[in-house]
Amino acid sequence: MNPAPITTSVFDLFKVGPGPSSSHTIGPMKAAYDFRQRLGELPDNALQRADTLHIQLYGSLSATGKGHGTDRAIVAGLLGQQPETADPDELLSLLKDPTVTYPVQVRDRTFAVGPDHIHFNRKRYDSPYANTMVLQLTSAEEIILEEEYYSIGGGFILRKGEHTDTEVARPVDLPYSYSTMKELKEQLKHHTLELSELMLANEMAVTGCGRKEINQRLDDILEFMHKAVRRGLRHRGILPGSIKLHRKAPVLYKQARGLAQSSDSFLIFLNAYCLAASEENAAGGIVVTAPTSGASGVIPGLTYLAKHHFHYDKTTLRNGMLAAAAVGFLVKHNASISGAEMGCMGEIGTASAMGAAFLTYAAGHKIEAVEAAAEIGIEHHLGMTCDPIGGYVQIPCIERNAMGAVKAYNAFLLATAGTHSLQKISLDSVIKVMKATGRDMSTKYKETSEAGLALSATEC
Ligand code: SF4
Repeated sequence: MNPAPITTSVFDLFKVGPGPSSSHTIGPMKAAYDFRQRLGELPDNALQRADTLHIQLYGSLSATGKGHGTDRAIVAGLLGQQPETADPDELLSLLKDPTVTYPVQVRDRTFAVGPDHIHFNRKRYDSPYANTMVLQLTSAEEIILEEEYYSIGGGFILRKGEHTDTEVARPVDLPYSYSTMKELKEQLKHHTLELSELMLANEMAVTGCGRKEINQRLDDILEFMHKAVRRGLRHRGILPGSIKLHRKAPVLYKQARGLAQSSDSFLIFLNAYCLAASEENAAGGIVVTAPTSGASGVIPGLTYLAKHHFHYDKTTLRNGMLAAAAVGFLVKHNASISGAEMGCMGEIGTASAMGAAFLTYAAGHKIEAVEAAAEIGIEHHLGMTCDPIGGYVQIPCIERNAMGAVKAYNAFLLATAGTHSLQKISLDSVIKVMKATGRDMSTKYKETSEAGLALSATEC
């Protein structure tokens, strides 16, 4: 059976929201907001019997949810906040005082929610996804409403009983349907289309927006990314959390400017841009999932470089973003972009492949070179584990964004040298390998902080 065609929107993949983790912050906030909406639909007699809210967290959400701010994100969602409009400072202030509870208003009833209502369960839970949360409204005798949600990476969520993510599988007639790179290339060849044209046409069908609006939204997304870079280049000091990690982006930026004539400066600038956005993410600032918040430094760093050093115009940047989105879609559709499912190869590996596609397409190369660059980007992240120290998206995450961007640049250089038809491994093949590797990887290395760097760094 052929997999369903990809109907994800570019703006589902590139989402604006607060850091530090799309699966642990944006997804849970969306789930809590959805639960709040469902509470509002309860019949009056059920609502009057209820007295308590409970939030049960399992798997990686339980293991690293504290460090990732999952509890704060859930409270914010229950209070009616949504990721794209949430105020990061307000979010950071939630649950600071463990004795304080917050009123969740549902029609004429008010339910308190605080630390005692959020349960970080260590026991295993029979669930098809690593990031599972169960939200309940109860009375002394019964569960009045219970919904089970899965945070499946990049801020995408699923509710139990829904067979697929509504943001991914919309019932829409696409002008150019595809589910693999092979099919995408066939469509381009058959219709003699440029990749950006195909992506725009599909995006118009998925969102109902016109070309002008989509272009504007792409410009806005780039601006959100670059705002995060600019903020990160300015902000100094120590990041939140027990590691007490110093921000490094401003130091690198100053160093790069001082070395403007040196051959190293290009790399130092790129490092500074990637670290800047990643450090903003770690601080809970507003970032863009690309494809996740943990990996939200790679593409902002590369696009900032392309804009300010290569002086690419708006159209070139937009086209590159559409090529990056095509690669992100293929990984999301055929493997996963979630660190809790794939380890870090699903996050930084995908971001690096997307970044390589951006650079290659923006530089004017054809789909075969874009495919080769993306394949190389993933190939050299295969097996990369996710073991963040203390459950914070800081070590290894921040530097890993810079490393992912540098690999993306090298993938672009390697893919655009010589003949693409000699490339031995297809993007579809490497995505299959990624999926199989993710399945074989121990859960200890999938955003649980139970092994690897998370254990060895005792000095933190
Ligand atoms: S190690 Fe990678 S996958 Fe894990 S939290 Fe950090 S950036 Fe995300």
